[in-house]
Amino acid sequence: MSDLLAGHSRIVVKIGSALLVDRERGLRRTWLESFGEDVARLVAEGRQVLVVSSGAIALGRKLLKMPKGPLKLEESQAAAAVGQISLSRTYSEILGRHGLETGQILLTLFDTEERRRYLNARATIGTLLSLGAVPVINENDTVATSEIRYGDNDRLAARVATMMGADLLVLLSDIDGLYTAPPAEDPSATHIPHVERITQEIEAMAGAAGSELSRGGMKTKIDAGKIATASGAAMIITAGNRLYPLSAIQRGEKATLFAASENPVTARKRWIAGHLSTAGRLVVDEGALKALRSGKSLLPAGVRLVHGTFRRGDTIAVESETGRTVARGLVAYDAEEARRIAGLRSQDLEAALGYEGRAVMIHRDDLVVEGGDEVALTSTVQEA
Ligand code: GLU
Repeated sequence: MSDLLAGHSRIVVKIGSALLVDRERGLRRTWLESFGEDVARLVAEGRQVLVVSSGAIALGRKLLKMPKGPLKLEESQAAAAVGQISLSRTYSEILGRHGLETGQILLTLFDTEERRRYLNARATIGTLLSLGAVPVINENDTVATSEIRYGDNDRLAARVATMMGADLLVLLSDIDGLYTAPPAEDPSATHIPHVERITQEIEAMAGAAGSELSRGGMKTKIDAGKIATASGAAMIITAGNRLYPLSAIQRGEKATLFAASENPVTARKRWIAGHLSTAGRLVVDEGALKALRSGKSLLPAGVRLVHGTFRRGDTIAVESETGRTVARGLVAYDAEEARRIAGLRSQDLEAALGYEGRAVMIHRDDLVVEGGDEVALTSTVQEA
């Protein structure tokens, strides 16, 4: 068996509550320490690791000595408030031993679904990574009500992987991968090491979401897999309960690998290219056109005119001075700000904006250039 982590440089690892918290004894510290060592080793190799950690509610209810059985919403939120602090402190301690800083991020559904907040969350997490810190992410359980919940951290982790352009999502689970049928029900079920594409047949193997824990569990994992693989991340499901769970993957322990459907940047660009309507237009000069065609970002200096009323994160068209649409991308500024900084050089942005701002008008990863990328722009461009 091969090392399934090989070749992956931005890895989201999701840890389930059962791995972190023992009902009787509380936090499973030894396990967490071994996981921390694994993370530190990967980071030392130059990879970026993001942790999506469950366990806040499970740990909080233990600390608060709450009775067994289902909790009311406000009870689980209270438990999460207590558990999350303890969880974050432990991560910070354990990773700190290896000289790593931990950054706590608590997300609600809107943070990955609404574009402005999405860009903010992405910028913050990206900054943490570039500063060498390990983001430890959970749902903001204390404020999320049922309508605005991801509900499960498998889906949250998949959204994080998509948002951050990760190339791998690892789900550390209580089962070592996907089987042809739920093994608890069908002893003849066989393990599937590789899934090229999530077809209906694969979905059927996960079983329906039901009361039985592992079945529902596999269904949410396959749903997470659909989100992740479509955005260009591969996904691994493996048993996380052994010590050094990431080393175990590298050693070739049993797992299921779901192949990514394409690379993350291409997937993102395809998504941008597929937008039929654009919220506005930027007219750019010759120099900027050249820069775009050679794969660079669009800087404010190259922008001559700004048309439309768009918000930061909207898809807008980029035009030449002759009126040809040459690119499409997600803009980093609101229209009003874009007008203020059009034509300005980087060192003048702060004075015009009143705050430091971002160096780019459209980042190259958020930009699809006509003829310049492997993805083609859809031909209809209408202003919304
Ligand atoms: N966010 C929840 C917690 O930290 C866990 C959700 C899940 O396990 O999927 O307790």
